[in-house]
Amino acid sequence: MQIILDTENTKCKIITYILRGNMRIFENIISFLEVPGETSLTLGVSGCPCKCPGCSWAAEDTTGEIVTLEEFSSMLSYYVGTVTVVTFLGGEWFPELKDYLKLAKEFGYKTCLYSGQDSVEIQTELLDYLKTGDYQEKLGGLESEKTNQKFIDIKTGECLNGLFRR
Ligand code: SF4
Repeated sequence: MQIILDTENTKCKIITYILRGNMRIFENIISFLEVPGETSLTLGVSGCPCKCPGCSWAAEDTTGEIVTLEEFSSMLSYYVGTVTVVTFLGGEWFPELKDYLKLAKEFGYKTCLYSGQDSVEIQTELLDYLKTGDYQEKLGGLESEKTNQKFIDIKTGECLNGLFRR
């Protein structure tokens, strides 16, 4: 199934796909912060097109190393039994990302995308969690009451922002 998820209930934005070859990843860490209640393999993807002012990763725009699907498969295999969700930060919804999400699913992981867009064209079977919204310094991130961002459980449609404020 493929839907357009529009968390603002406004007109849908169709993301322009950007063909960039294999994904470049500048950071991979195990984290408990990105997805409440889950142990996340968190991947920082280089070259986010959103260019939010104040983005702490602006310097990583052209850094990172290409991680092929074969290398990603090895990474996923290594973390089976430890990690519960694979999270992509700074990676927008370009065609290659779908292949990486699909592979993570085949290994039995949940998946999460931190997008800077307000609405995202999404294949719901590939994704469990989605963060939408660009970073606006005056509004803050998910931990802020004023934030423009939303963290959504895709299966239920529930906004889980409250879990970031405990
Ligand atoms: S969406 Fe996130 S990673 Fe991309 S520019 Fe904005 S703050 Fe940076």
